[in-house]
Amino acid sequence: MHEEGDYTTAGADAVVSATRRTRPRARLLEAVLLSRRGAVLGAALLIALLGSNALVFLLSTQTLLSQERWVAHTQEVLAAVNGSMARITNAESAQRGYILTGNAAYLRTYMAAAREVQPELATLRCLISDNATQVPRADQLRALTSEKLADLGQTIALRRAGQQAQAEAIVLDDRDKAVTDAMQQRFDAMTGTELALLRRRDADARSAAMATQATLILATAADALLLAGALLLIQRTFAGRARLAEERGRLLVHAQQARAEAEAAVEARDEFLSLAAHELRTPLTALLGNTQLLQTRRETLAPRDQRLVVAIGRGTERLRTLAEYLLDASRLGQTTLDLDLRRLDLAALARQAVAEIEDTVPGRAIRVVAPRAPIAVEADQARLEQVAHNLLANAIKYSPDGGEILVTVERAADRARLVVVDKGIGIPADALAHLFDRFYRAPNASPHMYSGLGLGLYIVREIVAGHGGAIRVESAEGVGSTFVIELPAAPDAPAPAPAPNPSP
Ligand code: ADP
Repeated sequence: MHEEGDYTTAGADAVVSATRRTRPRARLLEAVLLSRRGAVLGAALLIALLGSNALVFLLSTQTLLSQERWVAHTQEVLAAVNGSMARITNAESAQRGYILTGNAAYLRTYMAAAREVQPELATLRCLISDNATQVPRADQLRALTSEKLADLGQTIALRRAGQQAQAEAIVLDDRDKAVTDAMQQRFDAMTGTELALLRRRDADARSAAMATQATLILATAADALLLAGALLLIQRTFAGRARLAEERGRLLVHAQQARAEAEAAVEARDEFLSLAAHELRTPLTALLGNTQLLQTRRETLAPRDQRLVVAIGRGTERLRTLAEYLLDASRLGQTTLDLDLRRLDLAALARQAVAEIEDTVPGRAIRVVAPRAPIAVEADQARLEQVAHNLLANAIKYSPDGGEILVTVERAADRARLVVVDKGIGIPADALAHLFDRFYRAPNASPHMYSGLGLGLYIVREIVAGHGGAIRVESAEGVGSTFVIELPAAPDAPAPAPAPNPSP
């Protein structure tokens, strides 16, 4: 029982491995056939094979017809030889009859035979003109016939002149025997040659007929096989197409499921981030408040404790910023920004942001180029500060060698522009397209060297877009980066109304 089971499994394995071995080839053929080029090539091949079959059949039919024509030609030559012989025999018989009886009917028969025999010999000469053996015989025959007819004509003339005895003497004497024998010999030779030709040509025609028959059978069988093969392939191609469509449908369902699962996972992640950030924000705010309180009472602390309090303050601030980022990122995925738009000066806001950040990184060179006159925009102050702060913090973070950072604020037509340029590590070209995606970090921003979540630029882009503006980046790895933000400029403020004239 056990052994039988083993045997069955081994057999099945063999079948499976054989199927596996043949499947790639079948798949390849199927793929070729399913492609438009494969189908065209297959059709062309089929037409070429059918055409060559038809050509072979046509050629063998032509050979058969030509053999048949040769047989008919030989038969025609034989008939012409026999006809000429018969005419001469007739002329001679009529001559004999006329000499013996003087009957004019014999004379007419003779005349008719004598008139027709030369044209018939000329026809015979034409028919055998391609045969070098027969041509001299035919020519000799024509000459001998003239001689023979002259002899016959002479005896007839004697009889007509009433000299029957003289004419009969010539006939009995058999004077033209040599000519008659020579003629007979040529006729026999010609007949013999044509009969030999007829036998050979008949045999050739018969074998050509058999070859044509065989070709017809083979070509028909090959055509039938080709058409059956083509039908099978067409049927398989359609079946393949149907299977592909089915597979595509299945893949689509899988893809939809995977997409739904991925969306659910992203939703769960956002929910978790939002919850965690929310939960972190309250204790962090309290911690920050207490640290700031401690900092106001710095003088009551020992110098070492003072440094500790400052460090705790920085760390807590950083944690709170991260929590805010997480909260923003999860909110932005679900709702649009709630902005409190007011008229403000972008140049002043940039200067303030630079001053604040310089406090946290003493010794960093940040140059600001901005006009004294305000560059007004309608914006949410806190959000715009967040944008400026984020770009400046990135410029500092990703310039570990301390290169100069340049901040420019300017107005270009109806746009207000904030540009932050650094000479830091730059961004690889293929990372630029993803830079504003959530949680994206360029491959050269190694987490061991540069901390971060990959959320800042995403939030910046959403804030800028919420203001009707746009952000773009130009960068080269190892050279530096330039981030440009453009916002709609607010219309110029109306001039203050002139003071009323004092009444007289
Ligand atoms: P984070 O800095 O926290 O990683 P961001 O969203 O602010 O996240 O930036 C996304 C990525 O863009 C960074 O990880 C970094 O690879 C790249 N990046 C942003 N600013 C700069 C810059 N000034 N120089 C070089 N790379 C930058």
